[in-house]
Parts: sequence; structure tokens; C-alpha cells
Amino acid sequence: MITAEKTKVPERTMTADSIEGSSEQAFTEALPAYPPVYEETAEKLKQLYLSGKWSFNGQYEQEFSRNFAQHHDAAYGIFMVNGTVTLEAALHALGIKAGDEVIVPALTWLATAMAVIYNGAVPVFVDIEPDTLCLDPKKVKEAITPETKAIIPVHLYGSMADMEKLLEIAKEYNLYVVEDCAHAHGGVWSGRGVGSLGHIGSFSFQQSKTLAGGEGGICLTNDPELREKLFRIKHIGYDLDTKQGQAQSGPEEGLICHNYRGMEFTALILNDAVKALKEQTEKRDISASLLRNLLKDIPGVKIQARGRLADLQGYYRLVLLFEPEILKSGITLNQIQEELAAEGLATSLTYGPVYKHMLWNIPLTKYRIHSNINTEDICTSRAVCISHELLLGNRALIIKIAEVIQKTLKNYYK
Ligand SMILES: *Cc1c(COP(=O)(O)O)cnc(C)c1O
Repeated sequence: MITAEKTKVPERTMTADSIEGSSEQAFTEALPAYPPVYEETAEKLKQLYLSGKWSFNGQYEQEFSRNFAQHHDAAYGIFMVNGTVTLEAALHALGIKAGDEVIVPALTWLATAMAVIYNGAVPVFVDIEPDTLCLDPKKVKEAITPETKAIIPVHLYGSMADMEKLLEIAKEYNLYVVEDCAHAHGGVWSGRGVGSLGHIGSFSFQQSKTLAGGEGGICLTNDPELREKLFRIKHIGYDLDTKQGQAQSGPEEGLICHNYRGMEFTALILNDAVKALKEQTEKRDISASLLRNLLKDIPGVKIQARGRLADLQGYYRLVLLFEPEILKSGITLNQIQEELAAEGLATSLTYGPVYKHMLWNIPLTKYRIHSNINTEDICTSRAVCISHELLLGNRALIIKIAEVIQKTLKNYYK
């Protein structure tokens, strides 16, 4: 079995060179390289290359789709080329069309909202909870109109959207739920794997995610009809059982199908990597809990709250939330970042509200913004993120992170 421990990885130190103006000072603890690489996988990739069977629902695509779905308690997995088209395809499979409204969190990566735009529907940006940074169920309820057809909760950074409450609301108002799990691989909510809780779950395997294949994405579902639709959507209309070039049946009228097929090479990499996912998810969760504990008595800072019913939690980022009441006024996130970087701890900012992102160029007439006080406040002045890679470090590294945070914040108390 492949585990993170067995891998031979180059020594690497956590440096802050990615942050402008930082010193060269670095933590000395060695970190395993990310993404992890395995000799065994490299050998199989070579064999796959030599076989010439590189696409079209091949052996590795089928195996990985099955394994990944099983890992998250879902019946079916439909593998695609990235985690943006999986969201787009999910909404199309559910029949979302022009004029429909889809509720998305104001704080997420652009793809969540773009998937709505691609379907000609209207993204409605709704505020997050101040502690979990995930979609606020109360605000969701307020934002529902007769046009609302679906909700896309995002299990963001190091927490989980309140699926219990959101599913309840969805049931009451007859809405579809697409879970965006691009940050939450391996997470378990109230005894069930993420991605299996709503109608469709969507994951990304882009290079930086906690299960990485370079690119790649998957939809999970328990509904055989949705599985069939999703498969046709990503495979230009072919059904599950026919070979390329030998279609026996066509997609239903109006189901717009694309070529969103992923490659066998990616599926192979992921099929090996997923074997270590449980162990890595547990390790990240344990590290985050340790850090949460160590920071408990340090005033002025908290870690993003765990999902309310999370049994096992994914961490794409560990988010530090600063409390403005305790810190001196006028302290900027950039100042805190620079000082953490000077101690060797590299951090990043949140995505910011989607509709203020540099890459968001959608005219105002095509989306709606609900009141987003928490999102605006947290993104501009309260949150910095630590990469998930550090959470695979040893206990000493986690303790060192806590010390650096404590030392840095001391300068900022009133
Ligand atoms: C990364 C990401 C996606 C999209 O994934 P890609 O594979 O990069 O297209 C979707 N939603 C969220 C929240 C993400 O972080």
C-alpha cells in the first residue's frame, strides 16, 4: 500500500521567498514534498504510455471513479478533466437553465459561480458564517425566490458547510444541492463522506488540491439517472456501455453534451494517490486540532471553526482569523503576513468575495449580491491562510507555527 511515510521525498524547508519583501529566514524542519510522488506509480505510468490506451473510459478511469466514490460513500463517480466543468455539468444534469437562480457563497473560488454563468443561470452570492466561513443557512433562506433552483455549498478551506441545515432548507423549498468539495477530499460529515450528501458532489484534482492529479475532477452521485446524464454530458453524448464510435443510443433532446473527458494518466496517478488519502486527511486533521489547541489561549487569533457535524475534516488551507477588538487598530493583513514571513511562515490571503476578484468580469445584470457583511469583513481585515502542506509536517513543526504566530501577534496587542 502507498503511504505518505514510505515515499522517498527530497528534503525541503518551508521558506517565505514567495512573499515579497520577506527575509530568507526559514523553518528548519523538513517537509515532505507536495504532491507526494511514488516510484511505483511512475513505473505504471510508463507501462500505460507504452500500452497506448490513454483515454475513453479506460481501466484506470473506471477503477479510480469506483474507488473515489466508495471512499466518499457514493454509488457512482464520473471522472472529468477538471473541477470547474464538473460543477457546470452537475448543474446541467439537474436541468438548471437560463433565468434560474443558484445560491453560491460569496467567498469561494470563481469556478463555483462561473458554473452557474455557463448554464445561463444567475448566481446569487450569499454571506458566510463568521466562524466556519461557509454558506450561512439563515442567509440562504432569506435569499430564496421563486426562481431559486439550487444551492452550491462549498466546504471551504478548513471547514464544512452545514449540510444538515442546508439539506433541510433544500427539502423545504424543493431545491437541488451540489456540494463543491474542491477543498474537502476525504471529509466525513455526520458519518457520511462529503460529496454524497446532496444530489451531486464535485471535486477538483488540480495540482494544489489535497488529492492532486495535475488537473482532473469528478462528480459523485447516488442517483443512476444523474450518473447516466453526467456521463453523457462529459463524453459528447455516449452512454456508459458503448465503445467509442459505436453509439447504440443518443442523449435525450436538449441535454447539451461536451468533451470533458479526463486522461488515463491522471486517473492512474489519482488511483494510486487515493490509497493514502485517509491517512493524510487524518494527519492534517490532527495537526489542525493540535494547532487549534495551542492557539486556544493566545488572545487575538482563532482558527476557522470545524464543521459542526464533521467527523473527519479536509483542510485545503488552515485559516487564521484575527479578532479586531484585541489587536491595535490600523493593523493590516499585509503587515501581519510580512511579519509571519520574516519568521519563515508563508501565508496567503483568502480569495476575497467572488464578485470583487480580478478575474470576475461578469456584468452586474447577470448576478445578484445579497448582503455579505461577514465575507467583506473577514476577507479584507481578518483572515490569512496557511497551506495544507504544512499540516503534513511533524508535531514539532506545528508547535513552531504556534510559537511564530504568538510571537508575531505580541507586537500588535492594544
Ligand atoms: C479549485 C476549485 C474549483 C475548480 O477546480 P479546477 O479543477 O481548478 O477547475 C472549484 N471550486 C473550488 C472551491 C475550488 O477551490
